[in-house]
Amino acid sequence: MAAVVTLATAAAPAAVPGPPSAPAPPVRAPALSANPAYGAALAPCALAPAKGLQMTEGLPTGHGYVRSTGTVKALTLMIDFPDVKGQGTARKRYAEFFPQTSRWFKRSSYGRLKYRPATPVNHWLRMPHTFRSYGIKRGSPFEPGYRKLVADIAKAADPHVDFSRYDLVNVLVTPNAGPSAARAVLSVTYADNQHAPIADGVPLANVSFVYSRQDDGSGTLAQTGYRVLPHENGHVFGLPDLYTRRGGDSAGHWDVMSEDWGVGNDLLAWHKWKLGWLGTGQVECIARPGITRRALSPLGRRGGTKLIFVPVSKYAGYAVEARTNKGNDEAVCKSGVLVSWVDTRIDSGQGPITVVDSTPGSSGCTDEHNVHPGLSDAVFTPGKTFTGGAQGTGVRVRVTGRDARGDYRVEITRYASGGGQG
Ligand SMILES: [Zn+2]
Repeated sequence: MAAVVTLATAAAPAAVPGPPSAPAPPVRAPALSANPAYGAALAPCALAPAKGLQMTEGLPTGHGYVRSTGTVKALTLMIDFPDVKGQGTARKRYAEFFPQTSRWFKRSSYGRLKYRPATPVNHWLRMPHTFRSYGIKRGSPFEPGYRKLVADIAKAADPHVDFSRYDLVNVLVTPNAGPSAARAVLSVTYADNQHAPIADGVPLANVSFVYSRQDDGSGTLAQTGYRVLPHENGHVFGLPDLYTRRGGDSAGHWDVMSEDWGVGNDLLAWHKWKLGWLGTGQVECIARPGITRRALSPLGRRGGTKLIFVPVSKYAGYAVEARTNKGNDEAVCKSGVLVSWVDTRIDSGQGPITVVDSTPGSSGCTDEHNVHPGLSDAVFTPGKTFTGGAQGTGVRVRVTGRDARGDYRVEITRYASGGGQG
């Protein structure tokens, strides 16, 4: 299925999840997941993908997406049009995104994803038809304009490129094609699109297009403008959009699939697990009632426990992780423990992950452009407690301290909300 995915404020259906702390009437807790691929201890936390969604947070990610571990070869083509000739050189356009994108993936994946871009054509690849003729607009479906464009790219590149050697395709469009990104973001990814045009025997099923430049006028374009590409490539690896039609108010700046403009951010720990970037020892699944005490290692550092998950059904649960301004997380202005609600029944662009705000109503701790201010101070700091629950299960996360290594000590209680602590 072609996943059509764009950036913030694109029109999307209005359904949003209920608040994570909403009291839940069911008396009996529903069955948990039992995904055998993750082993007995983690199986209840490997939330099942819901059917019929464009993209889902469920595990495992479908086979039609690009494998997100090991060496991934990213064919990168720079294109222009007879009516919109390449602005600057194609090599310079490429240099807006590399090596920054490869480095971002290396850091985020703790070295598990080796992202290797390749430019067998290092000049502008001229399309046979005008930009206008493809009818490309914000949120355009694959048919008919993008099908024609992908087929034309395949034909124009074919003398120089063996498409079967690559795992994904990046198309860096000359920045003068279409409106400025500040007015309308055209950048889009067609992922797991098995009916795409075929080149060298393979469907071009995972293609990311990047248009214009994500310049917010803050003077940081050279450092931050590349971040649209990790976002778009997140889709080819199977990640849904976390922003909604209202913007970044579901997940804020805590994930590049939520906000990809301006100062750097990483991915939520749930996404890192979904992508295969956390070892089994780095994920703790709390599927039984009781009290669990653990140390959470900040995401920006290698090693240690990165994700504690409390499932409340086979489709939903709470994720707990530690965030500091290390690694890709330079936007973090308040360090601590982040709690979020993951629901695999909610589609891309409708809020499949909701970050819990420890300080509702506060204006946040950031003055950076493009960082959702209200959620910037969402973390729970030592001494603070999150209490929530859903579907008959109660969850309490108490941050008890921070040790000399910088790990956060947490105490997590899971109980049946109808019958007190169990
Ligand atoms: Zn997107």
